[in-house]
Amino acid sequence: MPRCSARYFHLDYKSRPGTAGKAQEKVTRDARDRVKFSPMRVWYNPRYYADIGENHVFPMRKFALVRDRLLREGTLRPDEIVESRPVRVEEALLVHTADYVTRLRAGTLTERELRRLGLPWSKALVRRSFFAAGGTLAAARWALEHGVASNLAGGTHHAFADRGEGFCVMNDVAIAIRVLQREGAIERAAIVDLDVHQGNGTATIFAEDPRVFTFSVHGAKNYPLFKARSSLDVGLTDGVRDDDYFAALRDHLPAVFAHEPEIVFYLAGADPYQGDRLGRLALSIAGLRARDELVLDECRRRAIPVVTVMAGGYAADLNDTVEIHCHTIRAVRAIFAPSLISTEQEAADARRA
Ligand SMILES: [Zn+2]
Repeated sequence: MPRCSARYFHLDYKSRPGTAGKAQEKVTRDARDRVKFSPMRVWYNPRYYADIGENHVFPMRKFALVRDRLLREGTLRPDEIVESRPVRVEEALLVHTADYVTRLRAGTLTERELRRLGLPWSKALVRRSFFAAGGTLAAARWALEHGVASNLAGGTHHAFADRGEGFCVMNDVAIAIRVLQREGAIERAAIVDLDVHQGNGTATIFAEDPRVFTFSVHGAKNYPLFKARSSLDVGLTDGVRDDDYFAALRDHLPAVFAHEPEIVFYLAGADPYQGDRLGRLALSIAGLRARDELVLDECRRRAIPVVTVMAGGYAADLNDTVEIHCHTIRAVRAIFAPSLISTEQEAADARRA
């Protein structure tokens, strides 16, 4: 277990006996009272999958595998998974240039652009990008109402306004923020990007927008070679383990909340993992779970709506990547909706939704 993470690590206070447990239970209940809680909602669509060849380093199967595991183990009930719809083209155009979106849809990106993207073009790839962005947008709307929601995809933070890059076709989080800003649903937002690679596309898209705080914790020597400038960048040296990672995150996370965001988008990348092929850091699976709990609990304590998206994960063993992503949703369950058994009110809300 990472140093100093104990108070974040075990959030199932009710299972702890004794007076201390009761005191903590009260704290938990008081914090929860500040947010209107609801049944969990997680967005997913089978169209998140696109065939890019089985030997590709990008594990396209992970989306379905995460969903299947969460259902099988009972972390999610089937009625808690909502089928994503695609964002509209005009919504994508709030972030991306018309030229890029037109050529992306038509399949006329240049060889150079496709090399940079690192994925083979197909109609299914374009479709998945629109559906994944739709999942993030819908999750954000739900989180604004109810405190938390997740998308079992998204976090494609290397996508710029005019190009895709590093397996990222469109920037789902940027699109969600721009749509919500346009609707007047939010003004200020923050992005907590803990994928191991810097969120260069996101940082560039919001560089001139002081309403959006971009926070990226990444490997300083890792891709992308040339970093963009986020509101706050924390570049870590190769081989950083749980303790140092936690210290850095704890030190810098308060800056995110000082920005007073109305919503937080959390990119819970699985690639800081020690077994990741593209990560260069050395976090354990338990350390990554504790990381998720820290971010989620800090949002909950402040009653700031939070949306989790998956971002990257390239473990040598796909099973590890899936497990790390599942942990994020388990952490959401543990922190925001500890009971799998619906109250009558929750059941009624779920039927209406
Ligand atoms: Zn990454």
